[in-house]
Amino acid sequence: MAAIGFIGLGNMGAPMAANLIKAGHQVTGYDLVPAAVASLAEKGGRPAASATEAIASAEIVITMLPAGPQVREVYLGNSGVLGRAKRSALLIDCSTIDVDTARAVAGAAQEAGFDMLDAPVSGGTAGAVAATLTFMVGGEAPAFARARPILEAMGRTIVHTGPAGNGQAVKICNNMLLAVSMIGLCEAFTLGQKLGLAPQTLFDVVSKSTGQCWALTGYCPVPGPVPSSPANRDYAAGFTAAMMLKDLRLAQQAAGAVAAPTPMGAAAAALYQLFVDEGSGRFDFSAIYRFIAKPAPKI
Ligand code: NAD
Repeated sequence: MAAIGFIGLGNMGAPMAANLIKAGHQVTGYDLVPAAVASLAEKGGRPAASATEAIASAEIVITMLPAGPQVREVYLGNSGVLGRAKRSALLIDCSTIDVDTARAVAGAAQEAGFDMLDAPVSGGTAGAVAATLTFMVGGEAPAFARARPILEAMGRTIVHTGPAGNGQAVKICNNMLLAVSMIGLCEAFTLGQKLGLAPQTLFDVVSKSTGQCWALTGYCPVPGPVPSSPANRDYAAGFTAAMMLKDLRLAQQAAGAVAAPTPMGAAAAALYQLFVDEGSGRFDFSAIYRFIAKPAPKI
């Protein structure tokens, strides 16, 4: 069993760290939010008062942070992981960030003598709790082999996607597709109801037809058909709309860099921008249903 330093104990990091503890690993955790650290301690983890303390004797360092700037700060900043971790430690960043930052941080880690992987995840908070996440992992094959048993304590599908940054490349493609499917579903449910259909009827047919997708059967944006979806708890996140907007911007940035046409991704980014700008960024990304389905103003 490994000594693991875990930084970032939010919606995803907290249940992921809890699963590592359940698997018998010794997890020392740190988050900027003291309550998150206290909660880890209640689950059998060791609380740390700083990132430096969390990683001091770690064989494996795992980070689950909001975005690229936090990842740069935690790895490259003063008292950052690269300056403080044991050289033998394997570094695994599970955050969803831009490909350039992932490659820059992995390059700096390699120069400092570390093995590092980018290992973003798919499966949402439910997957994090159930240890059924999908990990898409970029980095060298030996580091991947070393990480696999650790990742298996938190996920069910662990895929080596190629060199550093490739995990992030897969992740932004996946999330762009997820956003497009979610918006498509919201449009279909809005149209269906305006045509007189009950949401459950539409769900029963589409979930067995060619329009079926995970956003429908695993995360239905309309209250009712899928009891575990955020729609049934007033769209409490889950995966926030602000996070989805971040990922859509990453996808647009990457698409621009390689001249890939992504008109649907661009439309999804614009819609989520409007949704977040109206003050809804903290809600689950499926709450965009309320934005799309809201009654048209009377003229
Ligand atoms: P979150 O905001 O709930 O958690 C991030 C945590 O990092 C917070 O608790 C925050 O306090 C902490 N943090 C920020 N800066 C820090 C620092 N310098 N030192 C220590 N802690 C710091 O976010 P989340 O939903 O857990 O998502 C984390 C990452 O996983 C994001 O990149 C997101 O895009 C990705 N992701 C999320 C989901 C989901 O369903 N929530 C699914 C897949 C991937």
